[in-house]
Amino acid sequence: MIKKEYVLISILIIVILALSIAILNLNGLNHGNNSLNVASSHNREVIADDSVGSVEVIRNIGNPNAKKIAYVVGVHPLENLTHKTLLKLLPQQNNLKYCYDIYIINVTQDVGQYGDGSSDNSPGRQNGQNLALKYVYPQIANDTYELAVDVHSNIGAYPYKTFVFSPVKGALSEDYAEEVADSSQNITYYSPDSTTSGPYLTIPLNKNGVPAFYYEEYSFAPQEIKDLHMLELINGVDNLSFN
Ligand SMILES: [Zn+2]
Repeated sequence: MIKKEYVLISILIIVILALSIAILNLNGLNHGNNSLNVASSHNREVIADDSVGSVEVIRNIGNPNAKKIAYVVGVHPLENLTHKTLLKLLPQQNNLKYCYDIYIINVTQDVGQYGDGSSDNSPGRQNGQNLALKYVYPQIANDTYELAVDVHSNIGAYPYKTFVFSPVKGALSEDYAEEVADSSQNITYYSPDSTTSGPYLTIPLNKNGVPAFYYEEYSFAPQEIKDLHMLELINGVDNLSFN
């Protein structure tokens, strides 16, 4: 009798475990997807198809007759939750003052995964940076943008979690980033000592006529907080004045 119950309980445990694993796998498929596919009424145009990934652009969000601003997402592929937040929210905004293009870098090779609380050292970071320099930098530098904003996230290793900064001290982008921080409740101006991606996009842009600053969000902030902060960025940028 005891033996029979033991067998029944064992079978039950095995069934529960199998179901749990099946559910976890389904979740993994839904949330582990790194591609930046967010539904949008705006057209996405592929501007580069490379062996390590592709680059797309969504043009003319906001007021198509106004001065132009570029956003860039995807330089570091693991930071994609913050990238998706911009892709979701910017096209939803009504009455934007400026005209926005979003450049989307989709790294497909060596995307990697976050380590055990350590920083993201995946080769996908370098792939994204290379795609930025090769394809996004020339598009932005050769167009008429007033500003470029490079969107990233961090795992909390800085004294601030949500911040903006220019990688070039004394540049116009520093003024713009400071104005955005001043107008935002939750975005601080904080400049880390160095960046890995600066030489691949924001530094050459600043040195070649397009002010460019970083937006950094905390990777593990809940989605509603990411949304709140992103709206502060979007509004702060849209309220800038350009001469
Ligand atoms: Zn980054």
